[in-house]
Amino acid sequence: MSADIIDGKAFAAKVREKVAGHVARLKEEHGIVPGLAVVLVGEDPASQVYVRSKGKQTVEVGMNSYEHKLDADTAEADLLALIDTLNNDPAVHGILVQLPLPKHLDEDLVINSINPAKDVDGFHISNVGLLGTGQKSMVPCTPLGCLMMLREHHGSLSGLDAVVIGRSNIVGKPMAQLLLGDSCTVTIAHSRTKDLPEVVRRADIVVAAVGRPEMVPGDWIKEGATVIDVGINRIERDGKNKLVGDVDFASAVERAGAITPVPGGVGPMTIACLLANTVTACCRANGLAEPE
Ligand code: NDP
Repeated sequence: MSADIIDGKAFAAKVREKVAGHVARLKEEHGIVPGLAVVLVGEDPASQVYVRSKGKQTVEVGMNSYEHKLDADTAEADLLALIDTLNNDPAVHGILVQLPLPKHLDEDLVINSINPAKDVDGFHISNVGLLGTGQKSMVPCTPLGCLMMLREHHGSLSGLDAVVIGRSNIVGKPMAQLLLGDSCTVTIAHSRTKDLPEVVRRADIVVAAVGRPEMVPGDWIKEGATVIDVGINRIERDGKNKLVGDVDFASAVERAGAITPVPGGVGPMTIACLLANTVTACCRANGLAEPE
């Protein structure tokens, strides 16, 4: 039996539509236009594509987009000064510094200099702590998108066995916190995990966030499990460039109950959640009820 395909592209379009509705109401009822500032340092080609796409979608839902492109050799003090300006700009409700940063810049220092209330990526240490203690925070966009798709598919996640493969600060760890928050029994696997196939085989939910093309074969997947593939890996196959996930889709689709494709799964949800987080930040900044 073939798995249900979780259509992240269609789901993301629905999220954007909802965001656009909130933005229109904020404008009509309160004269407020949410604003998202994106800071890109250097010329990493993948980052440039993401930043362009974020800017375009921000404008499409009716928000203001402010793009700041800085040279690769920008001094740390200059970047921190820009963030300080954005922190104090009332027209800017969300600030995102595109990662990775060039090596000479201290990523932790830069991220933690963003006003946590404007930290729409949810990477500031305050937001990490708030999420970890189950308090209201800014939730990192990729794990938030994964959680939304899981809730949509399952309804309640309570009591389900979830395995997150990957323990990065931007995907694996916050994903595990969110699943725990929804009362899953959570295992976090990583490169030192013993017998990963057995760990994955007992999971009702598998979230793969590793960055290794097709490393999870179908026979690791429990029959009927839900598979969320976060990986984005560029490979060459049959002389063509292809985008594949961390899961071997062709074999996993035969075992899973539901699975996200790559592309068209987690990727589109990430930017949609960024827009949703910006509206949330704007509502909080203005003391207004935030969208559910
Ligand atoms: P990181 O490189 O920061 O983390 C990868 C994790 O995978 C690490 O915890 C590492 O373990 C673990 N790992 C590596 N090899 C193995 C292995 N053989 N078995 C088990 N675990 C292993 O990556 P990110 O979290 O930033 O990203 C993961 C993937 O998700 C990438 O493909 C990235 O492109 C994609 N991504 C997609 C997004 C989207 O919008 N769809 C957004 C963000 C990321 P250890 O800690 O022990 O080294």
